[in-house]
Amino acid sequence: MIIGILALQGGFHLHQLSLESLQIKSELIRYPKQLDHCDALIIPGGESTTLMKQIMKNNFFDSLIEFANKKSIMGTCAGMIISSCRSSDKLNRSLSVIDIEVDRNSWGRQVHSFEAEVNLNFDNDNPFNATFIRAPKVSRMGHGVESFAEYGDSAVLLSDGRHLMASFHPEIGDDNRIHKLFMGMIK
Ligand code: GLN
Repeated sequence: MIIGILALQGGFHLHQLSLESLQIKSELIRYPKQLDHCDALIIPGGESTTLMKQIMKNNFFDSLIEFANKKSIMGTCAGMIISSCRSSDKLNRSLSVIDIEVDRNSWGRQVHSFEAEVNLNFDNDNPFNATFIRAPKVSRMGHGVESFAEYGDSAVLLSDGRHLMASFHPEIGDDNRIHKLFMGMIK
C-alpha cells in the first residue's frame, strides 16, 4: 500500500513521518500521474488560496476529483478547506469531495493559534492534543457525514465513510491515532 501526500505547498513532511511511525509507505506527490499508483492521498495544511493556485497550475484539479471518486482522501486544515464544498472565501475554488462547508480562519489569526485536548469518540479515554493553526470551522455537515471529535460546539474531525477531514493538524506531535483511523478507511 502506498499513501500519496500532496507536496505542492504546506506541511507535507510531518505527515510522511506520521506514516513512517505506522510503517506505512508514502510518496510525495508533485505530478498528477503519480496518483495512479496511490491507494489514498493526504492533502496537508498550509494556505488554501496558495494551495489551490498550485493545484490549478500543476493540472491537479480534475485528477484529484477523479481520485476522490474512487479512493480516500485525508484533508487537514487547508487540505480540509479545499476538499470541502464551499468555503467562506468565495474566490477560492474547492474540490467538493466531501459534503461539508467551512469558514476559514474562524478561530482568529495566526497569533490566536492554540492547542487543545479533544475527545476522540472512538477512543474516549485518551484525549488527543490537537494543534489548531488559523483553523477553519465547519459550518455545515451534509447527510452521511459523521463527527469523530468536537471542540466547543464545532466538529473538528469528520468523515463520510470514505474521506477523513481534520480542522487541526494531526501530524504535529507523536500521536498517530488519526492517521491510523485513516488507514482503517482505505479500501
Ligand atoms: N488559514 C489557512 C487557510 O485559510 C489554513 C491554515 C492551515 O492549514 N494551518 O488556508
